[in-house]
Amino acid sequence: MTYKISEINAKTKQFAKKAIVLLLIFVSNSAFSQEFEINRVEPPNWWVGMNNSELQIMVYGKNIGNTIVEIKSDKVRLVKTHTTDNPNYIFIDIKVLYGAKSGFFQINFIDKYRIVQKYKYELKERKNRERGFSQEDVVYLIMPDRFANGIRENDNSDLMLEKADRNNPNGRHGGDIQGIINKLDYVSGLGMTALWLNPVLENNMPEYSYHGYSITDFYKVDPRHGSNEDYKRLSQECHKRDLKLIMDMIFNHCGSNHWFIKDLPSKDWLNNDASFNTNYRGSVVADPHTSEYDKNKMTAGWFVSTMPDLNQHNPLLAKYLIQNSIWWVQYADLDGIRMDTQPYPYKDFMATWAKTVRTEYPNITLLGETWLQKVPFTAYFQSKSPVSGDYDSHLNSVTDFPLYYALNQAFNENETWTDGLFKLYYVFAQDFLYADASQIVTFVDNHDLNRYFTAVGEDMNKYKMGLAVLLTARGIPVFYYADEIAMAGNEHDGHGFIRKDFPGGWGNDSTYSFVSQGRNALQNETYNFVSKIANWRKTNDAITKGKFLHFIPENNTYVYFRYTENSAVMVILNNNNDEERTIDLTRFQEILKKYKSGKNIITDEKIDKLDKITINKKSVMIIELEK
Ligand code: CA
Repeated sequence: MTYKISEINAKTKQFAKKAIVLLLIFVSNSAFSQEFEINRVEPPNWWVGMNNSELQIMVYGKNIGNTIVEIKSDKVRLVKTHTTDNPNYIFIDIKVLYGAKSGFFQINFIDKYRIVQKYKYELKERKNRERGFSQEDVVYLIMPDRFANGIRENDNSDLMLEKADRNNPNGRHGGDIQGIINKLDYVSGLGMTALWLNPVLENNMPEYSYHGYSITDFYKVDPRHGSNEDYKRLSQECHKRDLKLIMDMIFNHCGSNHWFIKDLPSKDWLNNDASFNTNYRGSVVADPHTSEYDKNKMTAGWFVSTMPDLNQHNPLLAKYLIQNSIWWVQYADLDGIRMDTQPYPYKDFMATWAKTVRTEYPNITLLGETWLQKVPFTAYFQSKSPVSGDYDSHLNSVTDFPLYYALNQAFNENETWTDGLFKLYYVFAQDFLYADASQIVTFVDNHDLNRYFTAVGEDMNKYKMGLAVLLTARGIPVFYYADEIAMAGNEHDGHGFIRKDFPGGWGNDSTYSFVSQGRNALQNETYNFVSKIANWRKTNDAITKGKFLHFIPENNTYVYFRYTENSAVMVILNNNNDEERTIDLTRFQEILKKYKSGKNIITDEKIDKLDKITINKKSVMIIELEK
């Protein structure tokens, strides 16, 4: 077929007309029929020079999952993107190029050849200052809402549902990060060398939100505690005072008001739909006879109905959580992580998490909360456990609940073959089940348990015995705030009663227990006892680096030693209620033969001869041995 020029011109014009119409339809489609938004990008930034050069960025916003991602940068390479059944999410895998400089790179989001959204993502300079915590430390545990109110203006936030109510034991009282910063010299003066705060991230729940375990934003400090920058400043202020900082994290669940719960990234983001709760039996994780039914209930059941159970077998969620913990370590220069509810998430995921974090930070201490009654179940969760078979958690540390139970019972009991001081003896005697018992965390109470003063019937003698063991036995002691002023509190009255405000933490408090003049006689007696031992222990090699040696309890008395090649400390406990006991030291010669005298570090009394020692009823002696 042939055409005249005029015909061709006419056809071209017709074609051009059609093309313009088509183009208009095309443009109007992409411009008006589908909107593309970016509401969140997480992690909010990353760093150059990480050991692992891979990063997965979650982008959330309307229809963003329907776009094509483009990155042109000399810093990173786009590896892959992932979309889910929810078009409002896209996950972008990138690789940070070797030697890349810090700075921004642009991510373009393209729909039908047009850039519909763009985002400048920042890679910061990595600064390294790595150290973990160990038995050289005493960790001070603070419930941030309940310690000190540094800024009254942040007690309430327009953006947060629950308002402050100091009269409600289970309400928010207004404690904050600034309040803690203001009291760091107090913490340090007490002899503490590390700080663990219960979670500080946003908990925008309608009620009972002060404790921090219902996180609604994994990347944001709760505005009622302060800001991310405040948390970073806390870390810097801690490090100035040689205090280490441990962050509390929770991977098992989040709060039901978490922003991603309202628009789930995928159908399998959560385990079930609150149709069943966990059985809280962490034993099933190690139990060789356990049923799939029990194991599933433990791992996939919800902790409570307001805490959706996260399915870490979703690889996108798994990466999200792992990167979140690395982000906080790097952002806030953390010395350790305390992982909540360690046995509840999938154990293979938890091992991957710990291994990945320790690949990035080989010296960091990862502590798993293992609320388990028996030693073998606890020991199972420490890295390289001799009792965990093929499983390696990659955790350096676990919580010594068996010792907690023993310390809560021993001084209230009469001696039998297994009771009284034998409770302590048998806990320590089982240390062969641990990979390293010196690295496990010890405590007499915490934010979930009866205050120790209450547990021993407010008996100061028993109280001192327990605290002395805590500060001198093997392991890393954790000291719960206000135990140094013998605060009482019964868990059965409600958790609010074991998490009372530190007296003097609020400007209008009638008492101010942060200084001796503000403390009553009982509080000063306890404070002086704790600060004396804690400050002494800092520089005592036998306690901070030494081994543990004990002798079978006799006549309701128990003697143990901490020792190195050149130093030793002897601890004597008399659990008798009736009268003092004189202890013949002959049976301890295997260690005493190197020493001539000693000093009672609580009373400063000199002990000239190491042949026999008289100890008061229901009491403890800590004797530093001298050559
Ligand atoms: Ca406040």
